[in-house]
Amino acid sequence: MNKKTKILIIVIGFIFFAFITFKNFKKGKESPQVLKKQEIKTVEKANFPKLTEKSERVKRGENITAILTRNGLTRAEAYTMIQEVKKTYNLAKIRAGNKFKIIKANDKFIKFIYYIDINKYLEVKRKENNFSSKIITIPYTTKKSIIKVKIESSLFEAILKENEKPELADILASLYDYDVDFNRDLRKGDVLIAIIEKKYLKGKFVKYGNIIASSFINNGSRIDIIRYRRKNGEYGYFHPDGRAVKKMFLKSPLPFMRITSRFGWRRHPILGFSAKHNGVDLGAPVGTKVRATASGTIIARGYDRVRGRYIILRHPNGYRTHYYHLSRYASGIRRGKKVSQGQIIAYVGNTGRSTGPHLHYGVQKYGRYINPLTLKSPSLKPLSKLEIPAFKRYSRKIIRLFNEIIVFNMNQREINKEISNKLNTISPHFL
Ligand SMILES: [Zn+2]
Repeated sequence: MNKKTKILIIVIGFIFFAFITFKNFKKGKESPQVLKKQEIKTVEKANFPKLTEKSERVKRGENITAILTRNGLTRAEAYTMIQEVKKTYNLAKIRAGNKFKIIKANDKFIKFIYYIDINKYLEVKRKENNFSSKIITIPYTTKKSIIKVKIESSLFEAILKENEKPELADILASLYDYDVDFNRDLRKGDVLIAIIEKKYLKGKFVKYGNIIASSFINNGSRIDIIRYRRKNGEYGYFHPDGRAVKKMFLKSPLPFMRITSRFGWRRHPILGFSAKHNGVDLGAPVGTKVRATASGTIIARGYDRVRGRYIILRHPNGYRTHYYHLSRYASGIRRGKKVSQGQIIAYVGNTGRSTGPHLHYGVQKYGRYINPLTLKSPSLKPLSKLEIPAFKRYSRKIIRLFNEIIVFNMNQREINKEISNKLNTISPHFL
């Protein structure tokens, strides 16, 4: 080591030492603040009320009065609150499944938060018996991105492979609830492309927003879906020809399940569709949710040695659906009750003449059993003739992007490079 190097080391060492000292000095300067925080904490413990926060979802069939009274308000207080909040938001409109929070101070109801949708929430503050309320927009930044997944063994796995969150698998599968049964119909090599919204708060990913459009190549056929705002302001999903994605029947009574591998895992070796059988057998674990595939009325709920626990629903246009071998019914499921499409009516079981946990699902039209797998389900509310030209102008731009990706078999990196920058030029609001 020569003299120059030694000096250099000493100088660097000194700078380093000075830096550390300075950092500590800065920390030292901050320490009174730290102390203050501790003081505040102690004070809080001593004088401030004990805050508790409870987070829940609105249950099906539950109204706002029921929610408020079981959370500490009297009926009269609940009534006052509903009336006073009315100028901001009509609480009669709360929807099953939406989240709400109740904040109490020393067990006294002081704040109510209701998440209206993914972008805004209602906040109600209580002071004695006055309720003030406002609607708060969550300041997300929304970014559009385009993803392509190739199915190797399951949708869930394909989504995770692209470093997306598992809930994206649920969102995408539910988009195809009317056209594809993601538990059964998936094939190796299927490709799903989607333009999705991602919501960020302070630069951090929080959740997925809407699916703008999607293209699914399944077993050789392609299903394109496009989100579009109708003339009446409502958003809906449509196929490129203007047919609504929403149909009278869901493709399957069993919801999409996030399994990590295997195709056709539902096809039990000895079960499956057969002509003797008045329906299709869907193998699934005991306790799997069973959904009403269409809105209708419960006309039978019972038990016998063959069908086990069963439910029969009546739907418009002479349709009936049958659900057998159930382990139990969902609460409130009784003869004469109305159910809506997608509502959980029961749980998969192994009751009656059954060789393993499965759901027998049958569809009748005017008394005749038809194959649920090939059922041509009528579309609901298609776009009107007036709406179609603008919709087609918009959807063609999206389809062109999808075609580009498919024809050139682009991978995610190529998509990011060549397609992503085009996304902002295809807003339907320009039309
Ligand atoms: Zn069966």
